Amino acid sequence: MSALAPMRAEIGAVVADLEISRAWLVDPASGREGPGEIVVEDGILEAVTWLDAGEAEGVDERGVVVAPGFVDLHVHLREPGNEDAETVASGLAAAAHGGFTTVCAMPNTTPALDDPAVLERLRGAAATSGSPVRALAWGAISAGRAGEALAALGELADAGVAGFSDDGAAVASGALLRNALAYAGALGLPIVDHAEDPTLTAGAEANDGYVATVLGLRGWPSAAEESVVARDLALLADVVRDVPAARLHLTHLSTAGSLDLVRRAKAAGMPVTCDVTPHHLALSEEWLAGARRWAWEGSGDPWADGSRAIVESPYATALRVNPPLRAIADSAACREALLDGTADAIATDHAPHASVDKDVEFGLAANGISGLETALGVVLAMVDAGLVPLGRVIEALTTGPARVLGTPRSDRPAPGLVEGAPADLVVFDRSATWRVDPDALASRGRNTPLLGRELTGVVLLTLAGGRLAYDAPD
Ligand SMILES: [Zn+2]
Repeated sequence: MSALAPMRAEIGAVVADLEISRAWLVDPASGREGPGEIVVEDGILEAVTWLDAGEAEGVDERGVVVAPGFVDLHVHLREPGNEDAETVASGLAAAAHGGFTTVCAMPNTTPALDDPAVLERLRGAAATSGSPVRALAWGAISAGRAGEALAALGELADAGVAGFSDDGAAVASGALLRNALAYAGALGLPIVDHAEDPTLTAGAEANDGYVATVLGLRGWPSAAEESVVARDLALLADVVRDVPAARLHLTHLSTAGSLDLVRRAKAAGMPVTCDVTPHHLALSEEWLAGARRWAWEGSGDPWADGSRAIVESPYATALRVNPPLRAIADSAACREALLDGTADAIATDHAPHASVDKDVEFGLAANGISGLETALGVVLAMVDAGLVPLGRVIEALTTGPARVLGTPRSDRPAPGLVEGAPADLVVFDRSATWRVDPDALASRGRNTPLLGRELTGVVLLTLAGGRLAYDAPD
């Protein structure tokens, strides 16, 4: 399967010597994409050579691709507190297997990351793991993520958090979010909000619509997300008058209406960014009914063409996710937002769970999809369908999320194929396939609706900061 010989080096070791010729290089930092070669020596990207057409016959984007290491703004590493679902070590191994060299961990651990001591613990676990993948963290917005009082944002900023989020829940109090936007802005850091009005989603199971109605699942309205997006944007407009550096990032937006609100706010010059997930880009509510076709292949009515759409048993709890898988039109809106730049980044919302939290009836199952290792395959399916160019997808996995994080510094990535910099890149075979079997996953969370499915796009090598993070077996 692998187009490269394995490195036969230890994970974490400095890559002494690597040459990849006749590859397709994608470098969003310089805006270049085309055939070329790279050379890595002692961890440094010594040479990036772009070939002209005459030298590159037979090399195209369907072969071996080299791109900057991916950056994921939204992962749940579960440690401390829920190590049955994931540990920092298993999460970073999953990241490397997915081509990610930087991940930003959400603070909804137990205890919550609302104190620099919890960040130190995360850093300690990352160092002990031996993985060279960067583990950044969002600090909590509110103490204990309880939504009542601001956490010690200044102390968390001094300790090096990437910004602040109460992800898992929205900040219900407008007054608290307003203060957080102002305070974080003064510290030069973004606020990341999970847009959901919990009073509209209590007991909700599936996107409010035809599929939920037929299946008898309680509806989760788009308005629960859109009303919070609208409120957040109004608060941001208020805050930027006094604190021009305030920044808002809306994560895992899933509806056409939310994305349209962000589109209009950006057009008005508001300092807002957002991300969409691979599952909202490529899957739809039809999967709850047992359909297993990509969102762009669906009609929105999995029963319309009878048994040809229904291939799996319905109510698979691996599909229970927050926000829920949406309508076909919402998935199309996510892709449109990616194409026109409304969505700045693709973030996985990697949410591993132990089987005990998923092997229950649908309405009781924990929300979340284990997504780090399947993200590339899912977005490449979209590229294969001719819906989004490869270069745009790579941009949304590298320079897009890096811009959300802000000016590069020692712990913030600056993705790019830059000669003389430590090699931080992913090498993948664009056309090879792999099967998403539990044994193929490094994450402890096997809660993915893609189990058993063949995905196109096999990660061969991941190098983070000049060190080996992942090397495909022979
Ligand atoms: Zn969330």
